[in-house]
Amino acid sequence: MYIESNTKRSWVEVDIDQIIKNYNIYKSKLSDSARIMAVVKADAYGHGDVAICRALWQNGVKLFAVSNIDEAKCLRNSGIGGDILILGYTPPEDFEDLFNFNITQTLLGEEYAELVANSGFNIKCQFAIDTGMNRIGLDGSDTEKCAEIIRKYSKKLHLDGFFTHLCVADADDAENIEFTRLQIEKYDRIRELTKDLHFPLVHCMNSAGGIFHGGEELVRLGIVMYGLKPDFSNVLPDGIAPALSWKSVIMMVKKIKAGESVGYGRSFTATKDMWIATIPTGYADGYRRDLSNKGYVLIKGYRAPIVGRVCMDQMMIDISELIACGEVIEMGDEVTLIGKSGKETLTADDMAHMIGTIGYEIVCGISKRVPRKYL
Ligand SMILES: *Cc1c(COP(=O)(O)O)cnc(C)c1O
Repeated sequence: MYIESNTKRSWVEVDIDQIIKNYNIYKSKLSDSARIMAVVKADAYGHGDVAICRALWQNGVKLFAVSNIDEAKCLRNSGIGGDILILGYTPPEDFEDLFNFNITQTLLGEEYAELVANSGFNIKCQFAIDTGMNRIGLDGSDTEKCAEIIRKYSKKLHLDGFFTHLCVADADDAENIEFTRLQIEKYDRIRELTKDLHFPLVHCMNSAGGIFHGGEELVRLGIVMYGLKPDFSNVLPDGIAPALSWKSVIMMVKKIKAGESVGYGRSFTATKDMWIATIPTGYADGYRRDLSNKGYVLIKGYRAPIVGRVCMDQMMIDISELIACGEVIEMGDEVTLIGKSGKETLTADDMAHMIGTIGYEIVCGISKRVPRKYL
């Protein structure tokens, strides 16, 4: 899906072995009978879906989940087998492709199930059940009725099962723990009522659910497989670590005088003479503009703060401390935007935390023009 490039301008390095390690550690925390569906939507959270799926496949993963039909077809066209579940909407025009590519579609509700049933294609599908998120799915508050609808469509469709989605499984306060318990209770009740239908794929856990709310069955594993946290406050099992690093280089070094400003809007003004370096990565690469005057990058084990506004293709950093410590900084020197440098580590979760978002958004947001390299 990504451009092939050896250019050292701005690039991502993905440690596939770390992803497999994360997968194995996570799996070891579940019961022996538990299975895992790897969630590889949004190009495997920005890590590159084809490469990740191939590695997971070699490690025994046979179930995958994506967000849409283009992602699913891309995987099939790259030779990925097994089940591929689309978690979201597919327009009726594409129902024929769902069938031809042997892709499993989520049924958003009864109206959608009716469309699939009348399409003339024997499409594999699974019902979404809404147990409290209010996003998609059959209304799970009336468990009896919900089970009845599932039963009705099990006769009309190639129905492999159903699933629900937990919306606060990463929280550890009493109110949210109770909310999750109620979601699971509804799901369990529906599962009980449809037991005789022997569905092969019935599931309710995401990454957080699987580790914080017991993983006895099938877990849809996303963020933790990539070594990031569902919520910044979560503590992940030992050994799980981010697999993605984002690198760039120094393109220019300059000295500025006290009183001079840096960048668009003159949002930063030097209070003393300073050394500034420019880096060829900007918001068009997915580097968040709200990190302007807030974030930092790593060079030779030091933190170098971003000064001024992040531009479309470039940003400026303060390297005065490095120069003061006697470091020599030159064009082509490597800069770590996400990852490790010496004793310093800056994760996508840390970066997200600085600007009030989540690591998911940071890694998904690294744009297509940034090539992914696999270690
Ligand atoms: C994205 C998604 C997941 C994976 O969630 P993580 O928090 O990344 O583990 C699981 N299920 C559904 C329905 C999703 O949309």
